[in-house]
Amino acid sequence: KGYIDRAPEITDMELKISNVSTSKLITTMEDGDILVTNLYLSCDPYMRGRMRDFHASYIPPFTPQSVMEGFGVSRVLHSKNQNFKAGDVVTGLTGWEEYSVIHNTAQLRKIQQDDDDESVPIPLSYHVGLLGMPGFTAYAGFYEVCAPKKGDSVYVSAASGAVGQIVGQLAKLHGCYVVGSAGTSQKVELLKNKLGYDNAFNYKTEPDLDASLKRYFPHGIDIYFENVGGPMLDAVLLNMAIHGRVVVCGMVSQHGMSSRHGIHNLYTLISKRIRMQGFLQSDYLSLFPRFLEDVTSYYRQGKIVYIENMNEGLESAPAAFVGLFSGENVGKQVVRLAGE
Ligand code: NDP
Repeated sequence: KGYIDRAPEITDMELKISNVSTSKLITTMEDGDILVTNLYLSCDPYMRGRMRDFHASYIPPFTPQSVMEGFGVSRVLHSKNQNFKAGDVVTGLTGWEEYSVIHNTAQLRKIQQDDDDESVPIPLSYHVGLLGMPGFTAYAGFYEVCAPKKGDSVYVSAASGAVGQIVGQLAKLHGCYVVGSAGTSQKVELLKNKLGYDNAFNYKTEPDLDASLKRYFPHGIDIYFENVGGPMLDAVLLNMAIHGRVVVCGMVSQHGMSSRHGIHNLYTLISKRIRMQGFLQSDYLSLFPRFLEDVTSYYRQGKIVYIENMNEGLESAPAAFVGLFSGENVGKQVVRLAGE
């Protein structure tokens, strides 16, 4: 079982092992419950926020000593719910453990495997990435909040990550000029050569972020898809175009209490009439069916690709999660427990 504590900073996580048989779990099930075997677990930065009890959060904190909760892909083993049967594959919130009894089945989505286009199979793990919460975040954030126009200059930070890699590709499909930044040369190569970004740079090796952005955006940035916050946001604010949009999806650099960065350049919101707006993907869930249809079709037509970072085994999950905050993950971070 993945174990968490409410530490102000996180550098490691402890894994606790407890053996419970599935036959014993079945005896604990109530009407409406399903027992699943977890195939894939998703590591997502928002889970870091759940390790702290702070008033401004939009989601309740984890309970110390309880099993970690997160998105996953799972196969139903036993069902006391008429909507699910053994063998169904579902995606939604589950536990960081081999087997979970899920009570809140209303949040689950059944993955339809039988009507899959066999010629372009979709990996099950994509349901926590491209076709799951991160993909939907990119889709809702880009189309609904960025107000994109063909020809806009778009800048994406954490551009090769679970969300960023889709934002960049959607922006390219929309006819935008797209530049991304990431923290290693390997990621920069992927941005330019696999994900179709017009240009990309390693923000860790650029001596002056303001100068770098001026180089890539001589006429200013129309849309900044913000994933990191901190000094990057300050540099971006100096380089926005008039009437630009700063769309705040996340600020992964600001999770740790000691690494908070005060923003200096907010005055540019006035002089450049910038709109800066935060959003939560969960506010747009009515768009989810359209998203699934559109993005599945883009993928099957070869219009978008998706990069995953797959770790093996529950014991690798804590390190995989912590790696999100040091940039270890190249693409969407997933942990395979029992998937094919
Ligand atoms: P990623 O797959 O992008 O993983 C996180 C990445 O952030 C790392 O790989 C690393 O990439 C970068 N990073 C980590 N620490 C720092 C730092 N201190 N400074 C700069 N970059 C850093 O994660 P996701 O795509 O899942 O999430 C991206 C953002 O979107 C997060 O901020 C997340 O909280 C947010 N989010 C928001 C949602 C919403 O509804 N608003 C929903 C889902 C996600 P690199 O090597 O490039 O530095």
